[in-house]
Amino acid sequence: MFSKILIANRGEIALRVIRACRELGIRTVAVYSEVDRNSLHVRFADEAICIGQAKSANSYLNIPAIISAAEITDVDAIHPGYGFLAENFHFAEICESCQITFIGPSSQNIKLMGDKMAARVNMQKAGLPIVPGSTGAIKNKEDALKTAKRIGYPVIIKAAAGGGGKGMRICHNDISLISNLMIAQQEAESNFGNPDVYIEKYIEKPRHIEIQILADKYNHLVHLGERDCSIQRRHQKLLEESPSPVVDNKLRRRLGEIAVKGAKSVGYINAGTVEFLLDEASNFYFMEMNTRIQVEHPVTEMVTGIDLIKAQIRISAGERLNLHQDQVSLKGAAIECRINAEDYENNFMPSPGRIEVLNIPGGPGVRVDTHIYTGYEVSPYYDSLVAKVIAYAATRQEAIKIMRRALFEFTISPIKTTIPFHMKLLENPLFIKADVSTHLVQEMLKEEVLGAEY
Ligand code: ADP
Repeated sequence: MFSKILIANRGEIALRVIRACRELGIRTVAVYSEVDRNSLHVRFADEAICIGQAKSANSYLNIPAIISAAEITDVDAIHPGYGFLAENFHFAEICESCQITFIGPSSQNIKLMGDKMAARVNMQKAGLPIVPGSTGAIKNKEDALKTAKRIGYPVIIKAAAGGGGKGMRICHNDISLISNLMIAQQEAESNFGNPDVYIEKYIEKPRHIEIQILADKYNHLVHLGERDCSIQRRHQKLLEESPSPVVDNKLRRRLGEIAVKGAKSVGYINAGTVEFLLDEASNFYFMEMNTRIQVEHPVTEMVTGIDLIKAQIRISAGERLNLHQDQVSLKGAAIECRINAEDYENNFMPSPGRIEVLNIPGGPGVRVDTHIYTGYEVSPYYDSLVAKVIAYAATRQEAIKIMRRALFEFTISPIKTTIPFHMKLLENPLFIKADVSTHLVQEMLKEEVLGAEY
C-alpha cells in the first residue's frame, strides 16, 4: 500500500480523498493556489505546498509545479480528483515516467476515451450500441450534410475532445447544420485545442443513465449499477440519483454487462463510468466513458456501501478487487443535489463572495460533502460547486422528503446558491413521478419565465 499520496485538486473532492487516505492510514500532501491558502484541504492534509497563483493554468493545471511538489514531498502516488488534470493523458504519462502512480487508468486508456470519436468506434467494435452518427471527424460541409441525411434530423454536433457539457450544438435542418459547423469547429479549437467535431443523431427526450465500473489490474471487472443524471441544465448535471427509477433488474444487468464488456475490450483499469442515453422506447446507446471519479459518485457509494475512493487507491496500489458481481446489490435510494454558488433567480449567474452565515444540514439519511465554512471566500476562479447534499433512504420518495428537509436546514449566506432551485425541483410533479428527461429543467425554467410574463 502507498504511504503518501498527493492530491492534485481542491475543494470538496480534495477533502474527500484526504478523508479516505486518513482512514486507510496513508499520509497526504495538499497542493493549493495562493487564494486557497485557508482551505480545508490545506488544513486537513499532513503537508501542503503552494503551487502558484489563483488562475488554474498557473496552479491546479501547472504540471511542472505539481510534479515538483510530488518529488519534494516524496509521494508514491497522485490522486487527480475530477476536472483539472484528471483526464489529461499527458499528465498521467508524466506521472508514469516519474515513477509516481497516477490513481486512475493508464495514460493510454485516458487518451483513447478522451477522444470521444475514437471511443465511439472502439465501443462499437466491442459490440456496444452507439448513437447513430459519423465514424470520424467531419471533414467538410458535404460530409456533414451526407451524415445528417443518413441519420436524419435533428442532429447534434459534438467536439471530439469536448467535456463538461460544452461544445455541443443541436441542428434541425441543413441551414442550421452548415451555419453551426464552422462555429462548432472554431469553439472546439479554442476550448479544447482540437478542432475535430463529429455528428450524432440527437435523441429526443432521453434520460442520461451511467454505469459505474471498477476494474483491477488482474482483468477482474464489476459494475456497481447505474446513476440517473437526467436532471441537467445546458448539458450539465444538477441532481443525480441511484438507482434510476426507470431501470429494472433486467435492464440493469444488460447495461452493466455491456459497460463491463466495453471497459474490458480496452484493458481498462480503475474506476470509470460508461455513459448511455436511454430513449423513450428504452433503447440505450453508448455516449462516452469518463476515466475518473465522478462528482456524483456518492449516490453509488450510498446504495452499494462501497467506498469508491478507497477502491481507486487500492486498485492503483495493485490490490485485487475482492468483489464479485453477485455480491453487488443496490439497497435503498440515494439522491444528490449539487449546490452551486449561482443565483438561480438571475439566470444562474455565478455568485462568489464570503460566507457569513452557514448551517450545514445533518440528521438521519443526510451526507454533505463540502469544503465551505463560516468565513470561507467562494473564489470566482474555480467552478461554482460549494457542496453536495446526498439524501439516502429505503425508497426514492423517502429520500426526496429527507432532501427537502436537509435543504430547508441548509443556510449559506449572503452568497446566492442553487438551493432554491432544488427546492422547486423537489416539488415538481414530474420529478416526483420520475417522469423526466434531460429537458425537464429547461421546461421548468421556461414555464417560470412565461408565468412571470403573464
Ligand atoms: P460531456 O462530456 O461534455 O458531459 P456528454 O457526451 O456526456 O458530454 O453529453 C452531455 C449531455 O448532453 C448528455 O447527458 C445529454 O443530455 C446531452 N447529449 C449528448 N449527446 C446527445 C445526443 N446524441 N442526443 C441527445 N442528447 C445528447
